[in-house]
Amino acid sequence: MFTNNLSHNEIREAVRKLCAQFSPTYWRKVDKERAYPTEFVQALTDAGWLAALIPEAYGGSGLPLSAGAAILEEIHRSGGNAGACHAQMYTMGTLLRHGSDQQKQQYLPSIADGSSRLQAFGVTEPSSGTDTGALKTTAKLDGDEYVINGQKIWTSRAEYSDLMILLARTTPLSDGIKKTEGLSVFIVDMQQALANGLSIRPIRTMMNHSTTEVFFDDVRVPKENLIGEAGKGFKYILSGMNAERILIAAECIGDAKWLIERSVNYANDREVFGRAIGKNQGVQFPLAKAYANMRAAELMVNEAIRLFEANENPGAEANMAKLLAADASNEAANAAVQTHGGFGFAEEYDVERKFRETRLYQVAPISTNLILSYLSEHVLGLPRSY
Ligand SMILES: Cc1cc2nc3c(=O)[nH]c(=O)nc-3n(C[C@H](O)[C@H](O)[C@H](O)COP(=O)(O)OP(=O)(O)OC[C@H]3O[C@@H](n4cnc5c(N)ncnc54)[C@H](O)[C@@H]3O)c2cc1C
Repeated sequence: MFTNNLSHNEIREAVRKLCAQFSPTYWRKVDKERAYPTEFVQALTDAGWLAALIPEAYGGSGLPLSAGAAILEEIHRSGGNAGACHAQMYTMGTLLRHGSDQQKQQYLPSIADGSSRLQAFGVTEPSSGTDTGALKTTAKLDGDEYVINGQKIWTSRAEYSDLMILLARTTPLSDGIKKTEGLSVFIVDMQQALANGLSIRPIRTMMNHSTTEVFFDDVRVPKENLIGEAGKGFKYILSGMNAERILIAAECIGDAKWLIERSVNYANDREVFGRAIGKNQGVQFPLAKAYANMRAAELMVNEAIRLFEANENPGAEANMAKLLAADASNEAANAAVQTHGGFGFAEEYDVERKFRETRLYQVAPISTNLILSYLSEHVLGLPRSY
């Protein structure tokens, strides 16, 4: 039904095979229990897919971003959800681009072979929200260690990760610096930190996402765990945003394809008034529109990937890819519920689960409004609105 991206067909095929081992019952069960899909993440790790973007020199496959996008799209295309592990693909980039040789040697091989997980990304805070520069968590140098105090929110997968990429303030705003200066990135060993002032409180959400609040109470981190230069952290985090947006957009495309295919099959099978409901244009048109929007979004994802892989800055395209793909999956989910009628709300059809899962991407990792603000200001040249 879909003219698929012609790239990485062997990878797509292999990921599809792996995903076929995890039935809808599996995803329903972990969703119901809000459980971490450990077996799925382990299978992906064992097959090397989570190390796809790590350079070969550190034990990964050294594949380009398009391969990561293909892997994540296929997981979602199969009805699964990569939210339990996708962060490793983009948070690893912060370490790779800005970490020292010693840090890369220390962490990347174990992430590549799966013996340690880098899934937690601690940026958002309860009082600062999208305004990252206003975050309040501090890291103060004390001898050979940084002492970390503060709170993060929405730190997904913190309970299931060995390492966290953390953004904290190392120079106070009272020193007269800009909000985006004086922030630093650390790699935090979660086991050590848990024994030494870190606590984690899970947040139950409308979909299964293993997200948490994380509290730092005098957590001591060796100063060698600072990534790059102190004070440059905001820039380092920003440099990973294009990859993050592109990979999440690819997941949204996978969701939209799954939802549209499901709906078309249902519309062809379900008979009401003695004929398939799919014969009605009122049922066809929302699906046709969702398909057209998904395809347009997919083209933008491909364009963002093309620029990324050509070492250009695809800031606008990565944002538009995320915006359009999140809208496409949201629209497809809405159309799918409508097509399924009452069964759209029944757990056993999985459509309601995807409806909940796709909703997230209007808000995270960046909300639709903030993307529109970015485009208004940086592409259209309109005044900054905030
Ligand atoms: C399930 C889940 C998982 C997440 N995982 C992580 C994670 O692993 N790590 C992490 O650091 N963060 C994570 N986040 C946080 C996520 O990135 C933020 O929720 C998101 O960036 C929005 O921030 P906020 O929730 O504080 O909303 P706010 O910043 O409070 O915004 C609330 C609303 O106001 C709008 N708004 C705010 N400012 C403006 C403006 N200037 N113009 C127009 N509209 C505006 C926003 O668009 C939004 O709709 C996660 C969030 C969720 C829900």
